[in-house]
Amino acid sequence: MEISSLHEDVVSKLAESGVFGRGIDLFGRADSLLGLHRQGTTLRGWCCGSQMDAYWLSAVVRGGKVAGFRCNCPYDDGGICKHVVALLLRWCHMPEDFALVPPMEELMQRCTSQELAQMLEAAVERDPKFLAQLAPHEFTMPSFDEWDDDYDPDNDDDDDGEIRWFSARS
Ligand SMILES: [Zn+2]
Repeated sequence: MEISSLHEDVVSKLAESGVFGRGIDLFGRADSLLGLHRQGTTLRGWCCGSQMDAYWLSAVVRGGKVAGFRCNCPYDDGGICKHVVALLLRWCHMPEDFALVPPMEELMQRCTSQELAQMLEAAVERDPKFLAQLAPHEFTMPSFDEWDDDYDPDNDDDDDGEIRWFSARS
């Protein structure tokens, strides 16, 4: 399905009012959003927050609505964060700023199977969940619930490319 246009009112309803205001500020700040691109119905980019951190974020837009979003910032207070607000407002007002990236299938066809294997290996090093998806009969992700209460593999803020190792409890 092709991505659709989006109205600012739709975005404002997804965020707490204070958060929406901070998102407008971010949207208005030059260079707050970097690496903007879209692939199918998914918009992605980086957003520089107030602390000079760059967050990796994405949003799926279908039928004039936001079907999903993701940001690796720590915000967890209801609705979308200010970074996603800024990303969506950019799409509302300046969709031409998003570079168009072909679908994954098309990108895969450009690679040799050896190149794809190397990329998957790198992806598994970053996140072993990929291996569980690739080889579900041979490997399942262990549960860390009783080992490290603080670690939630689905909510890993450390998304800067470094491998995050566990320190086993003695
Ligand atoms: Zn965020």
